[in-house]
Amino acid sequence: MRLIITFTMVAQMALADSVTNLSVVAKAAFDRMPTVQRVDQMAGQCGADSSVDPRVTYCTTANRILVADGFWNTPQAPYLVAHAYGHAVQVQHGVADFALREIRNRRSEETMLRGLVERQVDCIAGFLLARADLGDVAPTALFADDPLDRIHWGRDPLRLSPQVSGDLAARAEWVAIGQAGDLAACSPGEFTADLLMDALRP
Ligand SMILES: [Zn+2]
Repeated sequence: MRLIITFTMVAQMALADSVTNLSVVAKAAFDRMPTVQRVDQMAGQCGADSSVDPRVTYCTTANRILVADGFWNTPQAPYLVAHAYGHAVQVQHGVADFALREIRNRRSEETMLRGLVERQVDCIAGFLLARADLGDVAPTALFADDPLDRIHWGRDPLRLSPQVSGDLAARAEWVAIGQAGDLAACSPGEFTADLLMDALRP
């Protein structure tokens, strides 16, 4: 019994460390990366209400990744936190500005453009997961449906940020591309990886 308890504690520590490791790896790779902050609950933080993802969000105004206490030690946490860091890389290094300009100019293509944003974010997530030695985390093994179809990043108030729906198979595909370790490959459709490569520390 003692052995089982010890094993469970070690497993939980390892998972808790996964999020911390990701944060260290992201900050080593890119400037201006957010700090991860544990919160009692998401609603009420950064203008979030119940329409916002209750587990992990990226609040761009505070440059913080918020993780709900009850979610911190779950096997799904590293992927969702890595995804939040992917959005942070885009926001802090010019890709989000580029995407927003394109969306404003081409409203009829908004869904497609937001889909490309998500693919590049998943690719960056895979790149960071691999660097943190968490490369065996495939979204398709962790989730039954798209886990990111609720508001999960944006300015305060988060409740007014756009909702994007993705597709789990595409997420897994782009996470795997990033996991191969070449950030230059994170260039879905018309999105190049130039800004990412400029931002990546040697
Ligand atoms: Zn996203």
